[in-house]
Formats: sequence, structure tokens, C-alpha cells
Amino acid sequence: MGVVSISPASIERIGGFLGQRFLNNKEKRLKDWTLAEEFISMYERKSHQDWFWIGEQAGKWLDAAAYAAVISRDEALRERVLQAVDRLAASQERDGYLGITAPWHRTPVRGMQLYEWYYLIHGLLVCHELLGSERALETAQRLGKFIMRTWGVGEGRFPLMGRFPGNGHDGGEGTLILEPMVLLGMRTGDDSVIRWCVETLQMWDEWAEKYPESRHTGSYSMMKAVAQGEAELYDVRDNVHAHTLHMTLLGLAALHEATGETEYRQVVLGCVDRIRETMVFITGGMSSGERYVPYPYYNPRNDIEVCPMHTWILLCAQALAWTGEARYAEEIERTLLNNFLAAQRADGSNWHYMMPMNRPAQPVGTPNCCNSSGPRIAGRMPTFLYGRSGQGLAVNLYCDSEVFFGTGPAPGAGGLGESANAVSVRVRQETSYPSDGRVELTLEPERPCRFPLYLRIPSWAKGTEVLLNGERAAVSSGAAGEGFGGDRNPATGDAAPGTYAMIEREWRPGDRVEIVLPMPIRLHRGARELAVLRGPLVYAYFQSQQDDPQRFYWNHGLYPDDVELVIDGDEPHELFEEEAAPEGWLGPALRVRAVQKPRAPMFAHEAANQRLPGRKEFSARLLPFANHGAQGGPHAVFLAYTSGKENG
Ligand SMILES: [Zn+2]
Repeated sequence: MGVVSISPASIERIGGFLGQRFLNNKEKRLKDWTLAEEFISMYERKSHQDWFWIGEQAGKWLDAAAYAAVISRDEALRERVLQAVDRLAASQERDGYLGITAPWHRTPVRGMQLYEWYYLIHGLLVCHELLGSERALETAQRLGKFIMRTWGVGEGRFPLMGRFPGNGHDGGEGTLILEPMVLLGMRTGDDSVIRWCVETLQMWDEWAEKYPESRHTGSYSMMKAVAQGEAELYDVRDNVHAHTLHMTLLGLAALHEATGETEYRQVVLGCVDRIRETMVFITGGMSSGERYVPYPYYNPRNDIEVCPMHTWILLCAQALAWTGEARYAEEIERTLLNNFLAAQRADGSNWHYMMPMNRPAQPVGTPNCCNSSGPRIAGRMPTFLYGRSGQGLAVNLYCDSEVFFGTGPAPGAGGLGESANAVSVRVRQETSYPSDGRVELTLEPERPCRFPLYLRIPSWAKGTEVLLNGERAAVSSGAAGEGFGGDRNPATGDAAPGTYAMIEREWRPGDRVEIVLPMPIRLHRGARELAVLRGPLVYAYFQSQQDDPQRFYWNHGLYPDDVELVIDGDEPHELFEEEAAPEGWLGPALRVRAVQKPRAPMFAHEAANQRLPGRKEFSARLLPFANHGAQGGPHAVFLAYTSGKENG
């Protein structure tokens, strides 16, 4: 038994850093009506004549906007989404085609259509599930039938990998369509859809061999080999596309849910573990220029795309739903609070396409894959905070918030405790986490009720204390969903890092649980460079945030490349000093001794060279990397360091 993310309808309030970014995403991106109008009207115009996959935008917007509308009870946004569903439905052609492409350009299929439909079907299914739109489901169903008639196995149908006219992404990447098709088949109960899914999956190996130019995806056998540790991720295909691989794995996960075939689940969990162990950076990003590449070629200056982070979060949520293992929730937190939100402009208006660790991000621009993938996850971010685990409640991420497990009609919002007499429970979480490690939960069941409460203890949080109504609580450690016994330690009171600590009791109104997480500063150190972490946050040096006395043009004096941190001891807490972050920034800031390296003699005249700064000491200010979107200019997660001995 695992931990299933809670329904968006259960969320009463979300605050803190995640809440602010959720809200900004909704107000400044999802409610940008000019953008939304453009995404929908492309379907009405049907004049697109390029390979470019811009038709995905409508689906991602529907999905993100429906989640955000339900979570924040935003009626205007909800209305807008339902209108968009009606307009999309009205634009659907008689044969079920729903797209942006001019009829003469379909010839008879267009490369990357399946990628666009991946998001469109997802968006429509979300509108059916969360907003109750039958029209959305009917539209998705007709599109699904059109896809099954045009693509797949059998005479006159197009393989999901292959050479298609006008295909932009060198060879088809259609294996990704598996996920929304399976979900559609499950939602409608139409077995013919699931059969189509299984039949096409059986062809993946053959197609992969026949069409080596299809480099975005790969064969099922290779994914299985990766899962079993017999191949590396970058061996799936030469230059395999990280995001497409993730989407394809989500399809295998859905097919396990539909068919019960255990091998699909093993392949997905095996690949997720391999990605986690070998491909995820300390900031929770992955890939380089959209691809998984062999280890020696990674560099902190490389581009890190938002899209594969967004599907990585969904893969981890799936693995958590299956296993209840705390490490998957920790990966969601790592990615959200570091590389993912670093890519969002702080006001929510846009996202960077690539968010490198040690190089300025490209300026944000017109609609692209990433500035719609970012909003898709940000729109549902609050649902990752809590999960249901059998009859219990799991707290996956700490964040100021309030949730209500009601007995009302909202799907998945049922009460807690033994199902026959489940009761409604309100849970209030008060905390400044991730700036501070103190978390206070207040439980308000409508009447006393017994259920297990699972609290995730991060792997870095050694010595976490859990208090119940002010007294040290006896907890047991393990995966969520497990009761006492099994792999769980007895309830000794120690909350083991990297597990869920469980308290099972009869909860009474007003019961209070306090979790005191130590927030250790850690150094992630190589021979020449290091990164600084505090709790779940990876820190960065932002050039614009230093007290450079040589101020000019937004403080562009001390480039990250010119700086070395002075690390003259083994106890990080003695080397760093905490101070308040600038207004509106996630903090705290960390102060550390640093030296500015002497400059190269770059002037033609010696007199000018003599005025260049020599080696000089200064106090560097580091701030969480997630603040990146609050500023502009160079930054670095990895900084050179010195023991300081050269300074005497
Ligand atoms: Zn992208």
C-alpha cells in the first residue's frame, strides 16, 4: 500500500513559498487570457503548416487551469476552462480529428501530432474528472477512436515510430501516446482501447529496430534492461530524449494499473530508481540539452530542461503511490524546491526553457514546451503535500497549509479511519519550512477517530523530534501504508531519516503534533568545487545579490567565476552565518568568507592592468537557488573553494 496524492478539492489553503508560487502561476500565467485565447483559437483556425508541436499548449493549459481552479475555488478560471472545452469540442471534425493542422498539411499524418494529443487527452480527462465535464470525456473519446483508426498495428495504420512527413523530432516518438490512451480506456471502460495499447506496445521492439532515426523513444526491451541494471539510460537510444522517455514510462505505469501486469510496474520502478541513482542532479534537474548523456559529458554549465523535471515529478508520485517509500517524496521535494522553481519567474508570468546550474538561463520567451510544462506541475503542486495511505494520512512535504478530508461528494475526498465509519478530518499545518525546520500540525476530526498518521522524515534530518501534545511521541519508522511489524521498527520514539514516521492512535479534536527538523548546512564537495545545501534547499551565488562596493549596472561586479569560498574547517555550521533574505525571497541567506581571484591582465595598457583587483577577501552571500526567477544575471550553484591558507 502506498501514498496517493490527495484530491485537489481537499486543499483548503496553501501558503509559504510553494503557495506563493502556485498563486503567481495561476494569476500571471494561467489567467493570461490573451495566451489562453491563442491556444484555443489555434484549434478553431486549423491553419498550422509546420512540424512544430505548438498544439500541445491547449491541453497543458486545460490540465493546469482545471487543477488550479479547483484548488483555489476560482470560479472565473473554472468557467473559462469549461468554455474552452466547449470550443474545442465544437472544433472537432466529423471523423474525430481534433487539432491545429491545416487539412492539406496532414498528408495524412503529421509528425508530433501524437505528442500534441498526449496533452490534449490528458487535459480533457482532467476536465472530466475535476470539473465533471461530460463533453470533455466525449471529445477525448472521439479523438481516441480517431487515433486508433489512424495509428497503431494493422493495414493502413501508421507505426508509432517511423518516418512521417514533416516530422520535426527525427523519427516518431509516438510511444508516449500510451499513457493518455490507457487512462481514456480506463475512464470509459472501453476494452478495445486497452487492447490497442497492448498491441502497440508489443510492436515497440520491432519498430525501434526498423526506424533507428526515432531517437526520442526506444524499445521496451531496452527499458527492461535499464530497469534490471543491465543497460544505462543513455543506451536506450543514441541521444535518448529524457522527457519522452519519462512520458513513455508513465504509459507503462498506467498500463500496469489497467491490466495488472506486474512486469510493467517492475520496469517503471526499476527505471525510476536508475534515473534517481544515476541521472538526477543535487538540484533535482536532469538531462543535458534535453538528452540523457553519458556521465563524463555532464557539466554544471549544461542546459537542464524543465519538461523532463515535470514528468519526473509525476513518475515519483506514481512510485510513491505504489510503494509508500519516502525516497520518492524526497525526490519530488528536491526537484520542486530547487531546479524546477528556479526556472519560474518569481512573479509567475513565465518560465525558462533551460535552467542550468552554473550559467545564466536564456531569457524567457514566447510559448514553448517548458513554459507550459512548468505551469502544468505548478497548477497541481499543492496535491503533492499530502497523501492518503489506506485509511491513514501521509504528510509528504512540509508547507504552511490546511486540508480537509471530508465525507462530501468531491472525488477522493472521503474521510479517514476505518471506511465503514470514516470521519471528516481537518488538518492545519503551520510552518515556515523550508526556511525553518519547525512544523506544527493540528488535527480536527469531527469526532475521535483512529487512523495512522505518517510523517516524512527527510534523509538529511538526523535527530528529528516528533512531539504529540507537547510530549515526545513514540513513532515507528518505515514506508507509509505499513503498520507496525514488517520492516517497521517498533515505536521507540526515534524518527529514522529517509522513512515515514508513523503515529497510530485515536485522534481527538485539537491534537497537536510538532515535528522539529534540524536544518543542517551540508557541503557537496568535489576536488575543486562545492555546492552548499541547507535542509532541502540547494544554495546559489547570485551575482546581483553581493555587496560589491564597485557597483555598476545592477551590481555586476563579482562574477561567480571570480570567486572562491573560504572553507577552512570541517564544521559547516561554523563557516556559515544565517541572515534574513531580501524582501520577497526564500531564505535564509548564508554568509561565508570568500576571496575574489585576481583578474587576468585584459587591458592593452599596463597602467589599467595595475588598477585591476588583486586577490581580496569579501563576505559572499548565498541564497536558495529556487530564488533564481526573482533576479537577472549570472549565478552559480557550484563554486570554487579554498582552504584559505594562501591568504596566510
Ligand atoms: Zn521543454
